[in-house]
Amino acid sequence: MTEYQPSGLSEKLLGIWLRFSLRVLLKPVLSPRWSIGLQRRWLAGIASTTLVPRGMDISPVTVGGVPGEWLQRRGVPPVKPGTLLYLHGGAYCIGSAATHRSLTARLGSAMGLPVFAANYRLAPEHPCPAALDDALAAYRALRALGPVLIAGDSAGGGLALATALALRDAGDPAPAALLLLSPWVDLTTPDSEPAPAPGEAMLSAAWAHSCAGFYLGGRPASSPPASPLHADLRGLPPTLIQAGTDELLYPQAQALHAAMQAAGVASELDITLGRWHVFQLHGGLLPSADQAIARLARFALGPLAAATPPRHSEHEVVIMGAGMSGICMALQLQRAGLHNFVILEKQPGLGGTWWDNTYPGAHVDVPAPVYAFSFAPNPRWTRRFAAAPEIQSYLQTLAERHGLLAHLRLDTRLSEARFDEASGQWRFKTERGDSLRARFFVCSTGPLNQPRWPDIPGLDSFQGARLHSARWDARVPLQGQRVAVIGTGSTASQLVPPIAAQAGRLHVFQRTANWVVPRLDRPYHLLDRLLARCPPYAMGARWCWAQVLELGRRGFDEGTLARKGLIKTSTLHRQHQVRDAALRARLTPNYPLGCKRLIYSNDFYPALGQRNVELVTDGIARITPQGIVTTDGQERAVDVLVCATGFDTVHLLAGVQVTGQQGQTLARAWAEGPQAYQGITVAGFPNLFLMLGPNTATGHTSTLLYIEPAVRHAIRCMKAVQAGPHQWIAVKPEAQAAYNAQLQTRLQGSVWSQCNSWYRMEGGRIVALFPGFTREYVRALRTPGLQDYQLV
Ligand code: NAP
Repeated sequence: MTEYQPSGLSEKLLGIWLRFSLRVLLKPVLSPRWSIGLQRRWLAGIASTTLVPRGMDISPVTVGGVPGEWLQRRGVPPVKPGTLLYLHGGAYCIGSAATHRSLTARLGSAMGLPVFAANYRLAPEHPCPAALDDALAAYRALRALGPVLIAGDSAGGGLALATALALRDAGDPAPAALLLLSPWVDLTTPDSEPAPAPGEAMLSAAWAHSCAGFYLGGRPASSPPASPLHADLRGLPPTLIQAGTDELLYPQAQALHAAMQAAGVASELDITLGRWHVFQLHGGLLPSADQAIARLARFALGPLAAATPPRHSEHEVVIMGAGMSGICMALQLQRAGLHNFVILEKQPGLGGTWWDNTYPGAHVDVPAPVYAFSFAPNPRWTRRFAAAPEIQSYLQTLAERHGLLAHLRLDTRLSEARFDEASGQWRFKTERGDSLRARFFVCSTGPLNQPRWPDIPGLDSFQGARLHSARWDARVPLQGQRVAVIGTGSTASQLVPPIAAQAGRLHVFQRTANWVVPRLDRPYHLLDRLLARCPPYAMGARWCWAQVLELGRRGFDEGTLARKGLIKTSTLHRQHQVRDAALRARLTPNYPLGCKRLIYSNDFYPALGQRNVELVTDGIARITPQGIVTTDGQERAVDVLVCATGFDTVHLLAGVQVTGQQGQTLARAWAEGPQAYQGITVAGFPNLFLMLGPNTATGHTSTLLYIEPAVRHAIRCMKAVQAGPHQWIAVKPEAQAAYNAQLQTRLQGSVWSQCNSWYRMEGGRIVALFPGFTREYVRALRTPGLQDYQLV
């Protein structure tokens, strides 16, 4: 069970107002004292005042003989198969597709799926099982179009569950997932009148009881269609149950979750504190309702992808990777009017690095204002150096707000991409068997996505828990354990302090001591967040930080004041934080500052000084089933082995077979190391655009400052092809060769050539880093001409 605590002033004020309105306008009418006809008209009248999101086409349709509404995003063709069947609440007697339109439209928009909201037959005219028969008929007709998710609220939630049970019993294909909002799943009358739920703003037990009587029409309340809670729940699809704590049906949500778990169903219970029955109906107004709808959409994506059989689809653009650069590309494609794109993501969630890196203490090491897109500032950062979950949530929110979930295929790993010269199109295959075709191919996987395990003998023989920082498993207990961390780079500096706080014994294996400077972190308070909502302030803060970071680039040039300042700051930091002279000596770097990535940390050195922490600087000879043996022959017994040993930045895109013109593969073209023109295009691979490609990393600033201009440049190339109309665009081989020759000349003799790091290959060629200032890169990409390109 996950609990959510709504927060914020607007949430509080709107919550008070909405609860009051429901109590005054709705609850008195939902009563056995009034006729069903009057209740239906009253509810329809109130619902007509609710806001339906713009951009949705809503049309009356009949599906499987059942009338209802079809809701679909206007002008955006669905990029993935699937439908949402929505069963409205109203205790089986009142309500309709129209009364729940605001919610169904928002759900469809968030999931990027068309919705069929069924007007199933209502009691008392049509008692049980008429509603169930209608839901089954609609489901079976929709199933012909692909996988179907079933969602419902209140009585509709109970009906959704009953439908899934009936489908299972009849041997029909199961729904991809069930989304149950405050479901009414038990119509059996409790022995005693339930205590009124504190804060319940809509339902009363008396009204529910009278509706149950109409719906049952003399049938036993315990029968599965009426009270599916008491049925055999085994074999049901993944289910998300949402409820508020302030509602009559909260106990039913808990009981259903417990019963589903006992039956082995992948069930999740999502509780919003202090919220009333089906508060999601207030989406668009109440932030906690929008968040709950977003969670429903997020939950549904994985099961929907799993239930979708392999298929063929055609697009204008295929984006591989839903991290920072993939999301940026998708948002800018939308702005440019290119809507037919699909994002393929191998993980079950979006965020790229920020999805992968969930190790304790993970955060960004540049100030948050420059870690949000210039066109989408984030006023919600809680501190200057944002933690990984905050960044993932920023990206998630952006994707949801801009309808990107509709374009996203999770759990989908691209295995092959082949350029077809005859058509000027890319053809793709995924590991799950899909085939796709698109004119343009954007690789936005970045250099830091393939974890690198250390090449230490015996690694595989270790019998304790073995973790890589980029594939963290939070279920592995650390409390009181003997833990070893291999590596002392940026990642290790972040995860060592939280692990030191829990572990019984922590051994940190350092091969090279690094340059560490203070992290000027601070929490953001209410005033910061208010100011961040003011566009001139937000833009100004971002610009100022970008300039400050840009100054840091001077620190990599020998003899500059900035360099002297950085060296002095780091030395003083070490002296101040490491009192033990012997330990300090072992933590003193022996390579020029800047050659490896600078570490920004205030808690790494203090953690190394803790009593339960040992810094090991003897080399590692081998790993045994029980621990680590150093070159002096000493073995340290270990329960958990953490490898913070970075990423393979040399074999970019190794998991995908990319074939360009004349059958040439990217792996062959990059046999001497990856290279591209401006880090974006590769000769011989038309219509291919790399985001954060070779030689675009920096040691001093935010990658976003490189991503945005690269995205703009790629879209300009795409537009040039479309405007032609041409078939493809490719960088001229001589332009790429000249660009890289100049780049490597600049890099030779630079600070980055003076030690080993993930910036360089073993032979010494620097493949990851851009040697100049950010403004230089941005200016080069802004140059309007495409004279270095061939358009065919
Ligand atoms: P890294 O900088 O490559 O560091 C890897 C560490 O593992 C180094 O200390 C390395 O030692 C050590 N190591 C590797 N193989 C080893 C072996 N066989 N035996 C012993 N030690 C070994 O990797 P990272 O710390 O994961 O950082 C990679 C990059 O990710 C960073 O530079 C940064 O750009 C990015 N990052 C960013 C953030 C952020 O906030 N934005 C956070 C974390 C990481 P040597 O130095 O001797 O090779």
